[in-house]
Amino acid sequence: MSIKRTFHTLGDGLMTLLFPRLCLNCQRAVVAGQRPQLCIPCNNDLALTNHWLMPENGVTDRMVGRLPVTFGAALLAFNTGTVCQQLIHALKYYHRPEVGVQLGEQLAELIKDHPALQDLDGIVPVPIHPNRRHERGYNQAEKIAEGMATVLRKPVYPKALKRVVFKGSQTKRTRYERVENTRESFGTGEGDFAGKHLLLVDDVLTTGATVDFCGNILLASHEGLKLGVATLAIAE
Ligand SMILES: [Zn+2]
Repeated sequence: MSIKRTFHTLGDGLMTLLFPRLCLNCQRAVVAGQRPQLCIPCNNDLALTNHWLMPENGVTDRMVGRLPVTFGAALLAFNTGTVCQQLIHALKYYHRPEVGVQLGEQLAELIKDHPALQDLDGIVPVPIHPNRRHERGYNQAEKIAEGMATVLRKPVYPKALKRVVFKGSQTKRTRYERVENTRESFGTGEGDFAGKHLLLVDDVLTTGATVDFCGNILLASHEGLKLGVATLAIAE
């Protein structure tokens, strides 16, 4: 081990002693190297969907009749009060971009050998509005895409789609209003992806409206484009 590396490791140990890493869900101390930063019981509580083992699953079902997809998968089941919800909140509201990267890597490891993805050309994160990005400091979907890209060894195209208008928080809207709001919120961005196979990436799949609109914009803008969909979580 080099001297620099030794000091780095010593420094890491000291930092952990002074500021123990705490579980993102239950705040208990966590052993170094846990990715994402969860204690063992909380990590064991994460419910993998196993979507990558099923030709039809919760993600592909939600796209039926709306968006033709080559592949669909979410990493985790998202339910209120679960560890998964805490992770998504950490990523979106508590400035923990590394959670997106780490879960993106996990998801990519699970899907990288899937037959439907062997001709994949790149990854497109769902964009967020510049105002929201400014508040948060990053686009969470881009962080997920970054993590996936290192495992899949494919480029990320963060400008393939763009956010067009912003109408405030979606959380207080009715489902119909959310759908209408989403419809006007995305537009085609930069790049020519004719004949390419892209993976559209977002944090949580709920109604599927966002992925539906984004995917259809891409399909309408690039002839012969094929699309897969991957999200960190699916709301059930
Ligand atoms: Zn915990």
